[in-house]
Amino acid sequence: MPTLAEVMEGAAALKTGLDLVKSAIGLAKDVQGALPASKDTEAAGKALADAEQAVAIAEAQMGQVLGFELCRKHFPPKVMLEVGHYYERSSGKRFEVFGCPSCGQVHQPVTKWERTVPAVGSDEPTGEL
Ligand SMILES: [Zn+2]
Repeated sequence: MPTLAEVMEGAAALKTGLDLVKSAIGLAKDVQGALPASKDTEAAGKALADAEQAVAIAEAQMGQVLGFELCRKHFPPKVMLEVGHYYERSSGKRFEVFGCPSCGQVHQPVTKWERTVPAVGSDEPTGEL
């Protein structure tokens, strides 16, 4: 059975691969957009959109396997990342708060928490709520 470090190493390699595929799709879309419109460019655009969707789903599945929470406000879902934390009153234990990097949805089990990453679409520095 692989160790956690081996799983994380494999996931990092997979993420790098997915990022490369996303870059390639972006370049292909640029080329497709620069060509005169035709049935071929329309078919290419559809294939690229399908490929983008497949990559986004693969990223979400990878995140879910690794234990990340997913934003369910849109599909394909986005992997939610840590945007802050709070301390449980009774134990003083620290818990993370997760947010969607795409839509800004925050999964917060408590009302008072400290944001450590700026909100999506915000130019404001981090601060306490
Ligand atoms: Zn979202």
